[in-house]
Amino acid sequence: MKHKYKETRLTRDSYYEASVTRKKTSPELHTDIYADVCVVGGGLSGLCSALELAERGYSVAVLEAQLVGWGASGRNGGQALVGYSSDDAIESQLSLEESQRLWHMTQEAMQLMRDRIEKHNIDCEFTQGYLSLAVTEKKAREMEEWVNHLQQRYNYSVELIGKDEIGNRIQSDRYQGGAYDANSGHAHPLKYTLGIAEAARALGVKIFERSPVISIDRGDSPIVKTLKGSVRCKFAVLAGNVYLNEYGKTVAPELDKRIMSVGTYIVATEPMEAKRCEALIRHRAAACDTNFVLDYFRPTADNRMLFGGRVSYSTATPINLVGSMRRRMLKVFPQLSDLDVPYAWGGFVDISMNRAPDFGRLGKNIFYLQGYSGHGLILTGLAGKVVAEAVAGQSERFDVFAKIKHHHFPNGQVMRTAAQMLGMWYYQLKELL
Ligand SMILES: Cc1cc2nc3c(=O)[nH]c(=O)nc-3n(C[C@H](O)[C@H](O)[C@H](O)COP(=O)(O)OP(=O)(O)OC[C@H]3O[C@@H](n4cnc5c(N)ncnc54)[C@H](O)[C@@H]3O)c2cc1C
Repeated sequence: MKHKYKETRLTRDSYYEASVTRKKTSPELHTDIYADVCVVGGGLSGLCSALELAERGYSVAVLEAQLVGWGASGRNGGQALVGYSSDDAIESQLSLEESQRLWHMTQEAMQLMRDRIEKHNIDCEFTQGYLSLAVTEKKAREMEEWVNHLQQRYNYSVELIGKDEIGNRIQSDRYQGGAYDANSGHAHPLKYTLGIAEAARALGVKIFERSPVISIDRGDSPIVKTLKGSVRCKFAVLAGNVYLNEYGKTVAPELDKRIMSVGTYIVATEPMEAKRCEALIRHRAAACDTNFVLDYFRPTADNRMLFGGRVSYSTATPINLVGSMRRRMLKVFPQLSDLDVPYAWGGFVDISMNRAPDFGRLGKNIFYLQGYSGHGLILTGLAGKVVAEAVAGQSERFDVFAKIKHHHFPNGQVMRTAAQMLGMWYYQLKELL
């Protein structure tokens, strides 16, 4: 079978994998079993769903094609941000009250992550604080409008930082202004994901690794099949992100056209002195600019700069990834030019056309969770909660998300890529004007 996402190199060179010890590997599924709920995918969507369902007393089996946290959940920028990738679809399609409800749910998602870290004693280096950055004066004005909008529509306060003050918040000449959100933050995403998996296991969730799902027999009692076994269940939750149909075309082909995979990349420097690292961004906050192809970065607990950016619409690793990422980092922090960059990796973001999350149902007993569009670190926790509520018969909150309409991407990667490139050029052109 030909796989699009066979980019093992990207996983091997990840700072995250190098900085964890995977204590437990789970067995492969090689028999036929029953669970109330079968979850496909051992990333944060699947694991948070499993945890919530187990807390409600359901028996749960998680089927993961590779290892827990192998996908985006174990590779991402670690930025835990209140809000959505874009509010446009949410605000234009839903009522004021519904959009406010969804916004408040992202605040709930942030609190849920903090609560889980505390409750399950997950050592994932959570650090409070997030700095949003404007690279031009026009973007600084747009940021001011955004800050006012958040205050007026959602009663959510972030601190606006003017041009005079921004140099005190970040040791870089690149920015014309910013906004500081004390409520958002950042964490080591693989440690967090493995911690959630441990918490789920402790509640009796059966996790099977190296067990790709190749097909699902739908019906009143779906049968989720792997090469060597199966799970008969009352409900299934599909949380396979962009990889869902990689292992068998009859898993859920109708979901493919609702999201597109976009590659994004991260490097981590060697460690520096704590004082030097602390001086780079005040409060050791996470930071991100508001460009269409954005830079996102943060200090790590062991005093490295972890710097993400670039996009790619093909699944091939860009040539000279380290060199190009390093250049991007030095544009922001030229003073880091003496540091070596021992780690570079990447992964695929599941973007929906309108950048709003895409949650829904296939029939009455199969739920799907996808389309986080780069904001999945905390939203996956919320997704797990609302899908568990829906399984338990209280689908009111899940249905607010399911109400959002999503346009489909054109069929085939070539057409999608062309459409995305056009879109990207349009936005880059707009940024220059
Ligand atoms: C480089 C990068 C940087 C990012 N930065 C941020 C950030 O800073 N902040 C933020 O909020 N979000 C960020 N994101 C997005 C965020 O990581 C994702 O939205 C989130 O992790 C999605 O979680 P998931 O569980 O849905 O998917 P994943 O973590 O990708 O998990 C899906 C899992 O399902 C498994 N699977 C798929 N199909 C099958 C199958 N058929 N059978 C069995 N298993 C299957 C896969 O192997 C995979 O492990 C980033 C993403 C990337 C790639």
